[in-house]
Amino acid sequence: MQLTVTEAATLKEKPDESKLGFGTLFTDYMFIMDYTPDKGWHSLRIEPYAPMPLDPSTMFLHYAQGAFEGLKAYRTQSGSIQLFRPQENFRRLNRSCRRLCMPELDEDLALGALKQLLTMEKDWVPGAPQTSLYIRPTIIAMDPYLGVRASHTYRFFIILSPVGAYYPEGFSPVKIQVTHEYVRAVRGGVGEAKTPGNYAASILASEKAHREGYSQVLWLDGVEQKYLEEVGSMNIFFVIDDEIVTPALNGSILPGITRDSVIRLAKHWNDNVSEKKISIDTLMQAHADGKLQEVFGSGTAAVISPVGEIKYGDQVISISGGEVGPVALKYYNAITDIQYGKTEDPLGWVVQVA
Ligand SMILES: *Cc1c(COP(=O)(O)O)cnc(C)c1O
Repeated sequence: MQLTVTEAATLKEKPDESKLGFGTLFTDYMFIMDYTPDKGWHSLRIEPYAPMPLDPSTMFLHYAQGAFEGLKAYRTQSGSIQLFRPQENFRRLNRSCRRLCMPELDEDLALGALKQLLTMEKDWVPGAPQTSLYIRPTIIAMDPYLGVRASHTYRFFIILSPVGAYYPEGFSPVKIQVTHEYVRAVRGGVGEAKTPGNYAASILASEKAHREGYSQVLWLDGVEQKYLEEVGSMNIFFVIDDEIVTPALNGSILPGITRDSVIRLAKHWNDNVSEKKISIDTLMQAHADGKLQEVFGSGTAAVISPVGEIKYGDQVISISGGEVGPVALKYYNAITDIQYGKTEDPLGWVVQVA
């Protein structure tokens, strides 16, 4: 892999690890490469992090032909740096590329470039509990053109952002609201791709939920508005009658890597887990019957996000008495312990960087 490195004239001061938020600070360097039909992906380079000039007619800006990923680098107690299932992120990025008519990447090359960038930036991986270095690989359509078609040229870049603890005040449940007014994605659409348009489409519902005191939206399917799909930008799990249940992938649900990790760990431990189509009515009935034990979201940012209350129409139900349930806690601890190298890695998920 031929890769050019341009050194920064000055390096930034590292932030106070106790004050890190999410997605506001960026490291000294970024990785970039470009795609043209004749050369394929080329000009691999690590450059100082800086604004990128874009022609105002850049296709991505108008038609959102693009895709991204989100993963993290973790510092272990011994000071080493590791990734959690990064191959799955590049595999999913390629699936998003196929859906958005964009050229695929060589997954090994992309992971190699990421490791090289992380090796240069290893001092940016914070070491305080629950902190990490968030990684955002992104592909955008670059043709300066206003017609609607697939672009011919693309840019891929990776930026890095040190992030703080998701639960600085301890692992605690959130309140969520079912929306009937809006849908996140429809089958046949782009819901299963990590593509910018999905997030633009979700903002209004989430602002309304916030105004009413709820932190996330519980999305129903876009066709019948009946089946449970996701919560905010996380996948969702239920514990009903001692069974761990998550909605089966159907084309509009984003196939989360944390979701897959919960399912695989559950199978590894012989916990009762299943992927199935589950309606909001079934959920409300399970609650009425006293069988709904827990609800939690799953995603890279929070890992596991316990839900303490759901509002559906005029009904408000309390889950696990508003407390964190044992299943959510077990999977949160198990996954974070693997990510931070505090325990063995039973399923071979960790990739060492430095
Ligand atoms: C990224 C994302 C998830 C979670 O995926 P992870 O790979 O677990 O981080 C779930 N839903 C949506 C809509 C997402 O964008």
